[in-house]
Amino acid sequence: MAGNRLRNAGAQVTEQSREQASAKTAFALMGDWNVTPTPENYELFYAYATGSNAVLSQVMEEMIRQRNAFSPEVLEALKARFLLRERAAKTMEDVGAGIGEMLDAVLAKLETAGKDAGDYSRTLSAAGSEMGGTQSPVAVKKVLDRLVGATRAMETRAKNLEGELQRSSEQVTELKTQLDTVRKESRIDPLTNIANRKTFDTELQAAIEDANESGATVALMMCDIDHFKRFNDSWGHLTGDQVLRLVANCLSENVKGRDTAARYGGEEFAVIVRQTALAGAVGLADQIRGTVECKKLVKKSTGDILGTITISIGVAQLSPQDTPETLVQRADACLYRAKNTGRNRVVSEDELAASATSNAA
Ligand code: GH3
Ligand code: MG
Ligand code: MG
Repeated sequence: MAGNRLRNAGAQVTEQSREQASAKTAFALMGDWNVTPTPENYELFYAYATGSNAVLSQVMEEMIRQRNAFSPEVLEALKARFLLRERAAKTMEDVGAGIGEMLDAVLAKLETAGKDAGDYSRTLSAAGSEMGGTQSPVAVKKVLDRLVGATRAMETRAKNLEGELQRSSEQVTELKTQLDTVRKESRIDPLTNIANRKTFDTELQAAIEDANESGATVALMMCDIDHFKRFNDSWGHLTGDQVLRLVANCLSENVKGRDTAARYGGEEFAVIVRQTALAGAVGLADQIRGTVECKKLVKKSTGDILGTITISIGVAQLSPQDTPETLVQRADACLYRAKNTGRNRVVSEDELAASATSNAA
């Protein structure tokens, strides 16, 4: 028993000294790299020091090794990429706890209000029976005074309760706004600010169901950045991240209304094009491809000219027997062909089918 306690105390001390060591490392690094000691910057360097996020550690180690500056833009990119998701989960937890506490408080108030109303009603019926017999004026006045007193007390309680419920309702509204924000954040990819993979999956399923019901067409584009590994190797991961944002902006610029542009994963993007047949979607895909190709990339922190980047796109159209998976697979097969036939191209499933026929012939 005592041994257990000692062991626990020992574990606590080790944990505490580990936290202190991480905090020291975080501060020392921030000092070395001239990073403004804001709480968010500290959070980032602390996470690095603890090694709690393997990808963050890898990215920051690479930066430190290459002696890249932690400029404000770089710090923003790191925070958007690594801190936002954790924070959204934490906010969600806080909102949940807040709603629980609020409900408990409101229920307790209502219970007290019910008890008060019961007491009041008992006072009234007691007064009623006392007034039943013949009473002297003094006795009547006494009963009346008691009634007036009880009514005033009830009035005050009702007012207090009204005030408390009003405050609770304001708190509920605020919690609801926070919840809406978290819900929105959980649908969006924090790095690129467009729909995330989860939203893509839901939207594609919904688009297919709608199309099956209404008989409308749906097309799907799968897009992938060309030679992106090479780009990362030359300019670093964080500059690569800026490129991901730029590509996402190009998608958003061209995709409007009912269509959904999403980050499918890593450096791949997908666009669900509703009520559009293959030819229309291919036109849109080529417009997006052209928009990306025309952007001249410049590194913000140094002004270095990074050249241009291109993307390849595969486009497929929903057929009646398709599931989300088979539609994605067909668009992927088209993307694969676009990569194999020179990149910076759009390949439709018609072209894929024609190439298969000519290969067979
Ligand atoms: P290809 O033209 O055949 O697509 O060549 P590629 O180099 O783009 O293809 P590959 O799939 O081999 O490499 C994808 C690279 O994308 C590897 C990885 O470094 C990079 N990547 C994936 N996710 C991210 C990310 O979130 N940020 C950054 N900067 N790079 C990423
Ligand atoms: Mg890829
Ligand atoms: Mg690629």
